[in-house]
Amino acid sequence: MIPGARLIILGRQGAGKGTQCVRLSRHYVVPHISTGDMLRAAVRERAELGLMAKEIMDAGGLVGDDIMIGIIGARLQRADAETRGFILDGFPRTVTQAEALDKITVDRPLHIAVDLDVPREVVLARLSARRVCRDCGTNYTATGMERQPWICEVCGGDVMQRGDDTPDAVNRRLDLYETQTAPLIQHFGSQDRLVVVDGVGHPDDVFRRLTTVIDDSQ
Ligand code: AMP
Repeated sequence: MIPGARLIILGRQGAGKGTQCVRLSRHYVVPHISTGDMLRAAVRERAELGLMAKEIMDAGGLVGDDIMIGIIGARLQRADAETRGFILDGFPRTVTQAEALDKITVDRPLHIAVDLDVPREVVLARLSARRVCRDCGTNYTATGMERQPWICEVCGGDVMQRGDDTPDAVNRRLDLYETQTAPLIQHFGSQDRLVVVDGVGHPDDVFRRLTTVIDDSQ
């Protein structure tokens, strides 16, 4: 067990970042900071940010860098992130965001950026079957045999398909990943701060691979 951690988890949509980040957050006792979850919460609460972001998110686009950098800057100033550290999921997504993050964390630099690597054809299949609890965000995989309405086992909320998991939006998001986010792998790699972890396999095996490389990076 390490005393806190400052991590970035990169990877295609559907690579299993959300599931693994929840487990890593418990293991290292650090907050899991997901910009996607923060934006979806703002949409649910009909906050100004949510009203602005919803259309972009539904179309599979990216919310502006300035807005996202502002959100993360404020979140990383909160006591839990200041003292324990953080696991960033979904941020940075562009090189501009990564450069801003380097400035925000200059006094508490990242331990490591992990690229959770799952091929495009595998994530496409996973995303078309992905269902998510609207209230707590727990992920499920649809088999077609579920009772409707589908109720979350964790919190009793409604389990549904995300608005941006439609085939068009998924393809757009994966294309954007290649053009905007994949250069981050180069950004962190050139600074020797990147480790690639194979994200294919049972979640327990992927988790073990992740903790091994994270512990080695401390
Ligand atoms: P995610 O749950 O990480 O797939 O994020 C869902 C959606 O939220 C993305 O498709 C984007 O529209 C938006 N989003 C989340 N994080 C960011 C970010 N760092 N920069 C821009 N848009 C983001």
